[in-house]
Amino acid sequence: MSIVTSFELLKYRATKIVATVGPSSRDLAQVSALIGAGVDVFRVNMSHGTHLEHAAAIAVIRTEAAKRGTHTAILADLCGPKIRMGRFAVTPTTLLNGSETTLTTRPVVGHAGLIPSQYAGIATDVQPGDRILLNDGAAELKVLSIAGTEIHCRVVQGGIIGDHKGINLPGVRVSAPSLTDKDRVDAQFAVAQGVDFIALSFVRERADVESLLALLGPEESRPAVIAKIEKPEALSNSTEILDVADGIMVARGDLGVELPPEQVPAAQRQLIRLAGRHDKPVIVATQMLESMITSARPTRAEVTDVSNAVASGADAVMLSGETAVGAFAVETVEIMSRIVYQTESYQWHTRPRGARATRAAEHGDLSAADAVASATAQLVANTQACAVVVITTRGVTAALVCAARPAAPVVVVSADPATCRRMSLYWGAVPVLDLATGQDHPNILARRVVQRVGLARPGDFIVLVRGFHADPNLNTPTITLLIV
Ligand code: ATP
Ligand code: MG
Ligand code: MG
Repeated sequence: MSIVTSFELLKYRATKIVATVGPSSRDLAQVSALIGAGVDVFRVNMSHGTHLEHAAAIAVIRTEAAKRGTHTAILADLCGPKIRMGRFAVTPTTLLNGSETTLTTRPVVGHAGLIPSQYAGIATDVQPGDRILLNDGAAELKVLSIAGTEIHCRVVQGGIIGDHKGINLPGVRVSAPSLTDKDRVDAQFAVAQGVDFIALSFVRERADVESLLALLGPEESRPAVIAKIEKPEALSNSTEILDVADGIMVARGDLGVELPPEQVPAAQRQLIRLAGRHDKPVIVATQMLESMITSARPTRAEVTDVSNAVASGADAVMLSGETAVGAFAVETVEIMSRIVYQTESYQWHTRPRGARATRAAEHGDLSAADAVASATAQLVANTQACAVVVITTRGVTAALVCAARPAAPVVVVSADPATCRRMSLYWGAVPVLDLATGQDHPNILARRVVQRVGLARPGDFIVLVRGFHADPNLNTPTITLLIV
């Protein structure tokens, strides 16, 4: 057998791209170029920058998306009880192996010998002998002694730190609540800005997600909530967290500090599978193309990491510093998009021709809705359909169908722009806003939208899914096979 490395590319990427907004990516020209390069969802990190800056960036994104007719979504990421350093006289600053330094809760300007912490509780949460990790684990301290606001430490592992970088206390029970006062204010801001998703950092248990949900109000009008999985406790409680959250993020930066890093790949795979079983989207995040912050080319290992996340079924892959502060923001998105296209096209061309293993075979107890989604995927495989069309109001049916991972794009037709934007995060979804939904006959509507997104090939099949309803009396899920 000869090895083939290049494939005819699919028309649409199934795996979505999330990109963090920052100084490298908030003016109109840059946002425009980033959407053009393939960004589906912009992430605004509330840990950095001001509300004024975020509001301006959000306005620019909305304007540009409207101009282009895309359903680009916005995700606001709340800090949660993330412990951060303050500011330094010189940033970045290097800590030397074996030196001594003091972490203080006083609001000083920092240097290598005196590191400000923005979290006042740290001096009472840690004890002599504890490990303190700085900047996603780049440097490690060991606590020698504590005096009031001052924590004296030895630098066990030297490294680079800087303004507002993170502090992790693995194994230490942090007393700060999951939803801090700042998070409440930031969440209100995000809702007022009409963001599509709100992510919550350092979720430990289901109740953490519930306290955010309580703040956000009625389900029909609130943003979707993404729980960031970055604590060992969240891994143990992941099923309960997925029961209440609308999706999850595998936040590998902090997870790889809180856990031995070699355990992160297995956690990632399990979380992707678990989210799929809950019909909820999962984002794989952090350091995916990290070297591109300063280099025009990614490392081969980074390319493989992105490809593996795609192959293992993530809904979305995310960029952080690469697009927030990187010198090659647009190039990074372009490369990420190319990796996704190649990986998916390879999977497409090499997948067995018959039906894929059904979800029932994978985990037995399917709900009726999941069974319909699974049958849809099977029908797509057996007919080699060019598209699935889902007519949906709030995207519930669409989410089910996407989670069944059919082998054709899922054209999600909705009359609601917010539903279209939300679907931008889901694997396989091609959102289409159609205000005539409900007026035209579904078969006519389906043919029209498939034409519109350029998927119709004469003689091909379209699989149309509709008729789900929360009211059991009106719930008549229907799969229709149409020919173009
Ligand atoms: P998190 O744990 O939430 O990911 P983070 O500090 O790792 O927090 P990222 O969003 O991953 O933040 O971005 C990586 C880096 O990019 C940040 O550490 C920060 O230096 C920079 N950055 C991100 N957003 C902004 C912003 N709005 N303004 C300035 N710098 C930013
Ligand atoms: Mg994090
Ligand atoms: Mg990060």
